Formats: sequence, C-alpha cells, structure tokens
Amino acid sequence: MPTPNPQHPARFSEWSFVSGSGRGGWGRILSPPVAGGSVEAPHPTWYFDTTMSRAVTMEKVVNLAKRRGFAFQSSEIYGGLASCWDYGPVGVELKRNVKDAWWREMVLTRRDIVGIDCAILMHPRVWEASGHVAGFTDPLVDCKKCKERFRADKLQDVWCPEKPSKHPGECGGELTEARQFNLMFKTFMGPVEDTASVVFMRPETAQGIFVNFLNVANASRQRIPFGIAQIGKSFRNEITPGNFLFRTREFEQMEMEFFVKPGDDERWFEYWKAERLAWYRRNGIRAENLRLRDHGADELAHYAKGCVDVEYQFPFGWSELEGIANRTDFDLKRHAEYSSKDLSYFDEETRERFVPYVIEPAAGADRATLAFLVDAYDEDEAEGETRVVLRFHPRLAPVKAAVFPLLRKDGQPEKAHEIHALLSRHFPVQYDQAGSIGRRYRRQDEIGTPFGITVDHETMRDNTVTLRDRDTMQQERLPVDRLVDELKRRIEV
Ligand code: ATP
Repeated sequence: MPTPNPQHPARFSEWSFVSGSGRGGWGRILSPPVAGGSVEAPHPTWYFDTTMSRAVTMEKVVNLAKRRGFAFQSSEIYGGLASCWDYGPVGVELKRNVKDAWWREMVLTRRDIVGIDCAILMHPRVWEASGHVAGFTDPLVDCKKCKERFRADKLQDVWCPEKPSKHPGECGGELTEARQFNLMFKTFMGPVEDTASVVFMRPETAQGIFVNFLNVANASRQRIPFGIAQIGKSFRNEITPGNFLFRTREFEQMEMEFFVKPGDDERWFEYWKAERLAWYRRNGIRAENLRLRDHGADELAHYAKGCVDVEYQFPFGWSELEGIANRTDFDLKRHAEYSSKDLSYFDEETRERFVPYVIEPAAGADRATLAFLVDAYDEDEAEGETRVVLRFHPRLAPVKAAVFPLLRKDGQPEKAHEIHALLSRHFPVQYDQAGSIGRRYRRQDEIGTPFGITVDHETMRDNTVTLRDRDTMQQERLPVDRLVDELKRRIEV
C-alpha cells in the first residue's frame, strides 16, 4: 500500500503498488486467485476494441490521476495520511457518474427498489446485533524484526519492508501469535468521553437499511419482493489498506438489500449475480477483465447461505469489486431479538407471516471508480506521438465535450464561448484555447473527454463545427443547432 510515513514523507510518484502493505517495488504482479472463470454478461454492452493490449500499470494510473486531477493524497502537503485520498475536479465527476449510473439502474428505473440515506452514527446496539462488535475482526500479527503489522490471513499478498523484500515471516523475523483486531472506528458522542458514550463509525451501510426495513415498507407501500438501496460512506480501520483507491479506511459503498420470501431466495440470488455483472459491462468494462468467483465454504460468513464476488483483473491481480450474498433472515431476526420489535412481514395475498430473506449486492464506489479508470486507460499513437487516452463509456466520462476555437481571432473565441454556454446547460463541458489544436485534443484525451468541438472559419460562415471522436479520432461536420441532441444520443449509447 502507499504508506506515507510521517518521518519519511514519500513522494507520490515513488509509491509502490502491490496488494496489501507491499513496499516491495513497482507494479509487482501477484498471481491471480485460482477459482472462478469469466462469465458472459447477459446484456448487450458498450465497450471498445477488446484485442487491444493492456498498457496499464498502477504506476501510470496513479501518476495520471494526480497530474490531471482525478485523485490526490489526503493532506499531501503534510506528508499525507495513509490510505486516504481526495478526489480532484475530474475525479469527483467520474465518481459521481459511477454512483449515478448505479442509482439510476438500481433505483430510478425500477419499480421494486427504493432509496434511503441513513446517518453514519447509529445506536451502539445495532453493531452488537449485527455481530460487528464481537466478530468484525481480522487476525493481526507483528513482525518482531521490522515491527510492522500484517493481516495474518494475507501474508502471501504483502511484502515486508526489509531489503530484499520478502513475504512477512520469510525474512528471518519472528511473527507474533495472531490476535483479533476489530476494524470498527470508535468515537464518543457528547461531551463526556467514557464507555457509555462510545459510538461507532458505520463499517457498512447495510445495517441502516435493515433497521429501517419496516419504516420503508410502510412508507413506500412496497410489497415483497422489493429492495432498499443506499450509497454512503463507511469506515474500516483496515490493517493493510493499499493499492490506491482499492482498499482505504474511509470509502463509499453502494449497497442494496433485496427482501424476498424464503424459498424464492435462490432464484433472486442468481438474478442479482447476472444483473450486477452486466452493470459493469454496460458501463464499459471489458468482459475479459470481469469474472464471478464463488466463495468457498471456509470463506462464507456464518449467516450467509451463498456468496459470490464480482472480480476485476487489476494490474495487481484479480480482486473483489462487489460481493453478492444470500444473507438469509439473519439480520432481521437479530435486530428483532436485540430491539424486541417484530420485524416480520405479513403477506396480504397469501395471508402468511414470515421474516424475509435478503439478497445483498454490495459494491464499493471507490473500487468501481478505480476499475473504470484502470479499464479505460490506453495508449496509442496520434500524429507520430504516444497518446494517453482514457476510453471511458461516454456516460461515465467526467467531461462530455470540449470546445476549441481554432484561432484566437476573427470572432472564433466568442462563437466558441457561445457554444460552450449552450452545451454546459446539459452536461459538463470545457473550453480551451491554449496551444495547438493537437495539444488541446491530447489534454482532453487524457481525461477521457469523448467529444471535441472545433470552431473554425467555416463556422463563422455557415454555423457548423467539427465534431471529433476521442476513440476513432475521426471528424465530421455538424450544424451547431444539432449538437445538443447528437451529443445526448452518443452519450447514452
Ligand atoms: P474485502 O474482502 O476486499 O475486505 P469485503 O468482502 O470485506 O471486502 P464487503 O463487506 O462485502 O467487503 O463490502 C462490499 C464492498 O465494499 C466491497 O466489495 C468493496 O467494493 C467495498 N469495500 C469494502 N472494504 C473496502 C475498503 N477498505 N476500501 C474500499 N472499498 C471497500
């Protein structure tokens, strides 16, 4: 992980990117986990040429992210704060587009799912009932030689700081016995810092949904099967955060709890597996970089009947993007027990009362953003030079179009400003008149802007512009009054 040590503030560009705490060197590729194979998405999807070679490394992505304003390290001028990142001007748009794409498909376009936005701080009993106080732990070991701490179950994924770098325990340093470390952040509510005022920063958004199950069902008049979706911050005091936005201590989740009648759960589990995989494809991720991986019996949470991960092939290996779990009736039953409130559901049609089962697709907004960024990264050649281009699906691209006057005279800048004002009422658009037109295209390619609009002498005569496509670099002429409709059509392919 990129771990800025306050005593040795690492320069952004010097960090290594390996799974876990790895300080072992650039771009060390870990071998992919064994099980699982790629699964075809059931829906048609938008993606670019899949024969293209993968030019991407984490080093390139992180450098581009900083240079072009996708993400900066938190508190960088103070040496940085480990595993915390700030999204820059284009990063904030990209992540917002990822969340919007999720919300649109999971909530806005469905009649059987509604949204919620719960407080981060919840009653401490919630976390007792959910099992997080007792069991939300990772096994931790200390190396007596280098004094670093590692997750005992991930020793093969990380590298110790000794040189030459080895896996913890292989450098001659003795590891302590594993002890359980609770990942929840604690804080105090109110002016008194004692045990009675301890509250937790939520480690997942799901529990806010479970405790509101009846509120939402009653208020929205939803009948089972139906879902409740939420996007929001979660906090985990991870022992080994790392790999840029992949594993951080503060992150955003996109979770949906789908409540079904017991007995219908396996059918819905299959449904959500296919749907969620298809969502990544529809938003541009290449099929060969996605797969579903079933959890083995030893990985399954004690309450889960089944669990599958949607995995993405990052430069550091296949890793989880999203977990889809059949959580049975565990959560509602536990909250009923701890709160002494009846959380069962009465089915008016069948006149039956039951505690619903829950299918949960739980994704990370930051991890998904990273996957879209990595998958979009490409290098090709333009005008004899290497071009870095982010081939985002236009729906996710932070900036949809850029407007350029070819010359800084003859009324072209004024006309370009007018077009910029027209388009910016509909989508994020940039204006750029600095440098050669080729340079200006390159700058937009680097942030993944799908369309470039150039105002030239012909525009001043007949009110047409050139529309340049980021991927094909082809240009065509269009009348200005068709631009908005044409761009809308192309963004929503
Ligand atoms: P992991 O095994 O990677 O620790 P998890 O199985 O504990 O993840 P869940 O509890 O299922 O994760 O959370 C759902 C999703 O939230 C994950 O698939 C991931 O996208 C995201 N997520 C979880 N922990 C983190 C983190 N520390 N940083 C960024 N995203 C995270």
